[in-house]
Amino acid sequence: MVLSSVLGFPRIGAHRELKKVTESYWSGKATVEELFKVGKEIRAHNWKLQKESGVDIIASNDFSFYDQVLDLSLLLNVIPERYSKYNLPAIDTLFAMGRGLQRPATESTSAVDVPALEMVKWFDSNYHYVRPTFSHSTEFKLNGQKPVDEYLEAKELGVETRPVLLGPVSYLFLGKADKDSLDLDLLSLLPKLVPVYADLLKKLADAGAKNVQIDEPVLVLDLPESYKAAYKSTYETLSKSGLQIILATYFGDVRPNLDAIKGLPVAGFHYDFVRVPEQFGEVSDALTAEQVLSAGVVDGRNIWKTDLNKAVDFIEAAKQKLGEDRVIVATSSSLLHTPVDLENEKKLDAEIKDWFSFATQKLSEVVVIAKAVTSGRDSVSAELETNAKSISARAHSKITNDPAVRSRLAAVTESDSSRKAPFAERLEAQKSLNLPLFPTTTIGSFPQTKEIRVYRNKFTKGEITPEEYEKFIEKEIDEVVKFQEEIGLDVLVHGEPERNDMVQYFGEQLKGFAFTQNGWVQSYGSRYVRPPIIVGDVSRPHPMTVKESKYAQSITKKPMKGMLTGPVTILRWSFPRDDISLKDQSLQLALALRDEVNDLEAAGVKVIQVDEPAIREGLPLRAGAEREAYAQWAPLSFRLATSGVDNDTQIHSHFCYSDLDPVHIKALDADVVSIEFSKKDDNKYIQEFSDYPNHIGLGLFDIHSPRVPPQEEFEARINEILKVYPKENLWINPDCGLKTRKWDETKKQLTNMVNAAKVYRAKF
Ligand code: GLN
Ligand code: ZN
Repeated sequence: MVLSSVLGFPRIGAHRELKKVTESYWSGKATVEELFKVGKEIRAHNWKLQKESGVDIIASNDFSFYDQVLDLSLLLNVIPERYSKYNLPAIDTLFAMGRGLQRPATESTSAVDVPALEMVKWFDSNYHYVRPTFSHSTEFKLNGQKPVDEYLEAKELGVETRPVLLGPVSYLFLGKADKDSLDLDLLSLLPKLVPVYADLLKKLADAGAKNVQIDEPVLVLDLPESYKAAYKSTYETLSKSGLQIILATYFGDVRPNLDAIKGLPVAGFHYDFVRVPEQFGEVSDALTAEQVLSAGVVDGRNIWKTDLNKAVDFIEAAKQKLGEDRVIVATSSSLLHTPVDLENEKKLDAEIKDWFSFATQKLSEVVVIAKAVTSGRDSVSAELETNAKSISARAHSKITNDPAVRSRLAAVTESDSSRKAPFAERLEAQKSLNLPLFPTTTIGSFPQTKEIRVYRNKFTKGEITPEEYEKFIEKEIDEVVKFQEEIGLDVLVHGEPERNDMVQYFGEQLKGFAFTQNGWVQSYGSRYVRPPIIVGDVSRPHPMTVKESKYAQSITKKPMKGMLTGPVTILRWSFPRDDISLKDQSLQLALALRDEVNDLEAAGVKVIQVDEPAIREGLPLRAGAEREAYAQWAPLSFRLATSGVDNDTQIHSHFCYSDLDPVHIKALDADVVSIEFSKKDDNKYIQEFSDYPNHIGLGLFDIHSPRVPPQEEFEARINEILKVYPKENLWINPDCGLKTRKWDETKKQLTNMVNAAKVYRAKF
């Protein structure tokens, strides 16, 4: 019999119950009992739902109040002293490590003031985990027994589960040394770590567990030999627990590291065949005669219905090769990355809704596939037929195939993606902008006040007319422009008061996108996002930003900067299509944005910024052909969007959040780039972008902080930068947009920044 398996289920609750209760707890409105109660209800609901759907192998320990990697750090006692010293209850230590904690002393407790641990992206997803932070004094030991407790909790409800744990090699690889222990070799901790895992597995076995899923996702990365070599001894030890271990990888190709895990004494392996179906041959050849293959064929990272017939074919082939008792049908990864339930979408167009499958719907998919292979397709003929109909409807829909978009893309030539002249010539032409030395500017948004949100809500609900809303937006623009003129900024912005979000705002106006009401996905802690969905060929039916930018330019003599989100960033922060390549989606977006860039230029906006903060995170996980291709098409998309303008129109771009590779930025050929920089307090980083040939602004203050750096601090920083960059190339700007700041902070920050620029301008 072919079993069905789900590697993990979203823990946020169908109506964001987890967010509501954790935020109430943080603000002191909910008690710890209420917090735990909601957690327990969500777990119970998820387990029962999976059981009732007929899933055979259900995960436990996939729940977390903040992050599963952070849970593991707490469990293994990887708690830096700056947190443990307060002796807080475990749940508060967890939250303090995840988000920092600042609170005054009370009669019974001392004051606490500690920042959060570093948070990083989970592989190439939009989920962020809290980075395990090790030091010389780290002492592994079991702190509580969350996985055992949750296993027993499920058992009590009549649900036998397979606990899931992040494996020790991945856990170390994904961590870092604390600042007081920078010379620490993380891998040297493994011999002390593995016995604690072994102890935990033994406790699980004692509690009655038969199986465990151990995730080793770093196997899809380029791993150093030392880490590869660590698998053998680690799993020889862990296999002695008596538990059946399924070693799981996802999000990529394991083949380059297959040697490291081939022949390990585990019960079987899980692989992601949605991302990399081609690895089937090699990874199945590498199994011993007893080992099972958990085949991830239902996408844990996207919202599309699985093509069930195709998946059944795939599993059939696996069954032919291995025998039916050695094949498990599974989700490709945990379903954490998908929204909870499509049934909560009441406003989606029926045609489009029929193409989607959220976490709840994916449960039935694994079950149907397993049944089709076990009992024959006839046993689920109705399900397969309905599925085939929607797969075919999507493939033939007018929404997915827009001939006008396709032929336009096919007609794109080399010259469409390069500016009319090289930078030096453009620079001459752009002298018409009359910019001084050290031009000052901002990244786009100004504070999004409560008033702005109130007006936007009223407008969305139809409580005020479009004219009233437009008047309000114009008044906001007036104020922002007036302020910028007063303090003497050189290139102004309109402040983006009309935008809810830098991707959604564009998605809502482009053809080819769909939006959910309730399609929340955890990004980190209690922050969830609702990514737009690219459902079809993308085009721009009408201008999206011209009205506001044109108005803003009309009320000032200074150059006004038009503001757009770039093609790669829109793509990265949406659920992409799975029926055409990412490259083609990116290029379609680029053409739509090109129309907007050209219209802005025609409307008299001569400085246009196209933001690409997500360009780094789109980089494929492994070095090789795919990554090289990305390094081509990502900048190509940007250039396609921005190269329709004349030489005297100045193109800017902006990047934040990431360890950028200067090479990718160069390939954009933007006239000016601004880069988040203020948190790189070490002067050695100033070198990093020094060979950027065009103009550049290294962010001079942290827009996430209310702190106002004094003018002298700005001057000192400019002085350091000038040691490396020619003065003619340098722009003066903040790290990023100011939307999360308050007006009084923003005013002081920008005033000091502009005054520092003036000092330097006077010097030369
Ligand atoms: N123009 C955007 C803003 O200022 C850029 C935001 C971003 O880079 N994340 O808000
Ligand atoms: Zn930014």
